[in-house]
Amino acid sequence: MLYIVGLGPGSAELMSPMAQNALENVDVIVGYTTYIKLVKEYIKDKEVVNTGMKREIDRCKKAIELAENGQDVAVISSGDSGIYGMAGLIMEILASQNSNLKIKVVPGITASIGGAALLGAPLMNDFCHISLSDLMTPWEIIDKRLNAAAQGDFVICLYNPKSKGRPNHLKKALDIISTYKGEETIVGIAKDIGRKKEKVIVTTIKDLDDSIVDMTTTVIVGNKFTKVYNGMMYTPRGYNL
Ligand code: SAH
Repeated sequence: MLYIVGLGPGSAELMSPMAQNALENVDVIVGYTTYIKLVKEYIKDKEVVNTGMKREIDRCKKAIELAENGQDVAVISSGDSGIYGMAGLIMEILASQNSNLKIKVVPGITASIGGAALLGAPLMNDFCHISLSDLMTPWEIIDKRLNAAAQGDFVICLYNPKSKGRPNHLKKALDIISTYKGEETIVGIAKDIGRKKEKVIVTTIKDLDDSIVDMTTTVIVGNKFTKVYNGMMYTPRGYNL
């Protein structure tokens, strides 16, 4: 069996018992080095396959091969494995190989959900996720989606907001968003959720200092009704209190 396991954002408490069981019981754990570190207590005498980030296709193919040969294998992703994680890649490979291998996707708490809880209740009305990484999605498509989401006044969870190779993507995205929502829109920044350096900031598009934003940060842009209370942010559902 091939398990595709979401580990949650980082801390053991945020990992589901179903994920813990899968990790406990498999023969092999496959994953990127940073995530292997998150599950070190489960490794014991298990085989570990960890190649670098850019080798994710090789890693998934290896995991499929081991599972087809009868071993129980867990491929791990941070957060949820079906959200910019390994579950979709595994399914693409299986489809391309016409494979009948059985898989089990074990859900995890994705970064936006972990971050929203730290920030308050920003996701109480319609929301969406947009990744600002143009490694696999051209920027023209990202640009179009940012415009559409902002025009629809969705609460927008931005993943992959900024990296050394793309230092200006968050700024570009917020410029697009603010043309529809306005610069006073509330923004939450959730950095290193569930990890030692966890930090959250509630601010506005206008006042956001993006120097603290990096690749392990999730940015949640509110809708026009999102408010701040006691340092936390919330999006009213519409109860009219
Ligand atoms: N499968 C992951 C997402 C992978 S994409 C999930 O479901 O959470 C990688 C992006 O996720 C990062 O650039 C960042 O925006 C977000 N992310 C992942 N882990 C995070 C964490 N611990 N804290 C804040 N953001 C995180």
